[in-house]
Amino acid sequence: MIYKLNDFEVLELIGSGSFGSCYKVRNKHTHEVLVWKVIEYGCLPEEKKQLLVTEVTLLRDLRHPHIVRYFDRIVCKETKQLYILIEYCPGGDLATVIKTCIKSNNHIEERFVWRVLHQLISALQTCHSWISSTIILHRDIKPANVFLDGAGNVKLGDFGLACKLDADQPGCIETMEVMKGEMYNTKSDVWSLGCLIYELCTLKPPFHAQNIKELASKVSTGRFERIPPHYSDSLQRVLNSLLLVNQEQRPSIFDLICHPVIVSHSPPES
Ligand code: ADP
Ligand code: MG
Repeated sequence: MIYKLNDFEVLELIGSGSFGSCYKVRNKHTHEVLVWKVIEYGCLPEEKKQLLVTEVTLLRDLRHPHIVRYFDRIVCKETKQLYILIEYCPGGDLATVIKTCIKSNNHIEERFVWRVLHQLISALQTCHSWISSTIILHRDIKPANVFLDGAGNVKLGDFGLACKLDADQPGCIETMEVMKGEMYNTKSDVWSLGCLIYELCTLKPPFHAQNIKELASKVSTGRFERIPPHYSDSLQRVLNSLLLVNQEQRPSIFDLICHPVIVSHSPPES
């Protein structure tokens, strides 16, 4: 389906991000509700433009129930605006869920934590599989980039920082792993997933520091507090493995998907 700008009416502004603003829009003909990410590309430096092209190209190829679906892009040359049409996730993002819990002094149910873990492993399995000799690293897995549909299922989104790892290119680099003296690769996405799951349980990240140097030193010890006692030992054990400092010892997404504890916590098909 080819979309045109005037096929849509803008319903509301959802929020502003680093690249532009997100709007909730409705297709005037089909009444389908989508999200419009409007990006003013005219003023972007070449490097950011490149990042944008990456996000758009990546999303087009990725189809998975737990990855935010990309529909189309519309370029408006006159105004130098790019409109990216994506699936609307009515449940918002996990960063908001965490903030709400902190405010109301609540915690997130363990059952939901397992569901998030399971669904993100499944999404990452697709990213980390070779698609036309390329694998996709998300590189920015964090609560703000995981969205919720209306039924409490999660969808990984915001591939702005993702990069394709070509068959003949060993790795691309990202802050945390560089701080640990290792290359950013698929195992780094596993580590970030661990940080996200930990944050869902504890409502704060596993490593916290005033500056990047202190953070690097905390990360490299691999020591972090246990998740609160109302969460099971088996969840803690899975977290311990996701957050292993040594990449070789840390499981891959493919190890995780068939891990008996994870399999036993598969959510019922939704
Ligand atoms: P950023 O560059 O800050 O990551 P985003 O484009 O990811 O910007 O998000 C901007 C805002 O829009 C955030 O509040 C985010 O939760 C919301 N948002 C982004 N994508 C969607 C979506 N598909 N469905 C619902 N809300 C979204
Ligand atoms: Mg984001």
